[in-house]
Amino acid sequence: MNAVPSPVRPAYRTAATLEEIRANLADIRARIDAACARAGRDPAEVRLLPVSKTVDESRIRMAYAAGCRLLGENKVQEAYGKWEAMADLTDLDWAIIGHLQTNKAKFVARFAREFQALDNLRVAEALDRRLQDEGRGLDVFVQVNTSGEASKFGLAPEEALDFARALPAYASLRVRGLMTLALFSPDEARVRPCFQLLRDLRERLRQDAPQGADFAELSMGMSGDFEWAIEEGATTVRVGQAIFGARALPDSHYWPEGRTAPG
Ligand SMILES: *Cc1c(COP(=O)(O)O)cnc(C)c1O
Repeated sequence: MNAVPSPVRPAYRTAATLEEIRANLADIRARIDAACARAGRDPAEVRLLPVSKTVDESRIRMAYAAGCRLLGENKVQEAYGKWEAMADLTDLDWAIIGHLQTNKAKFVARFAREFQALDNLRVAEALDRRLQDEGRGLDVFVQVNTSGEASKFGLAPEEALDFARALPAYASLRVRGLMTLALFSPDEARVRPCFQLLRDLRERLRQDAPQGADFAELSMGMSGDFEWAIEEGATTVRVGQAIFGARALPDSHYWPEGRTAPG
């Protein structure tokens, strides 16, 4: 990845106390509401998914105290460890938002409430089998590569319809919608088309997708671009650094080589 930080990279200050986390959450919620107002949307349609990757247990407990009941994590092992460590928080749920290898499906099936990066049928099949064993269900989002970057995970947009047609075979997967990572760029004119593409794809799927697959949701938008995503129709925004502060680990730890986050 490019090690040179973007000149527009905002300085996300580390939120170290409950008050700071609470204030950041309130600030993001206000920005979500304002974006909804600009777009003529009902703010109740937009869910904030706080992303807690690299955030340690004590600050996650603060987020819980501030009202968070669902947290997003990119890596399964990290999420699983946190779930075990915080099993006392029985109403805290976890969403896996990063690429999954088939051999880790069993961990996701054991504890996650949702999985947002579904992009191949072998993973769907492995999850379904493990979920049947556990007697659990899982909300899933199909990840689509809307930026055309070869380094990205996700289906090509033209593959999505066939993929959607195959999903009802996996009874324990509850299809919720589509997920994407937009192009990482400060250039609004290049970022928005990624979100528009995902929204257009959802409209097509809603007309053509099989019964039992409900593609109502659009998970798109992160710390650097969630307001644009909301104006383009996002129903879930995944926000980490703007709540918890900048991450120490480089993004290449979480994403394929070649991708850097805007903030
Ligand atoms: C880390 C991550 C986010 C949140 O990114 P921030 O820049 O921290 O807001 C969103 N989606 C995915 C898939 C991520 O891995």
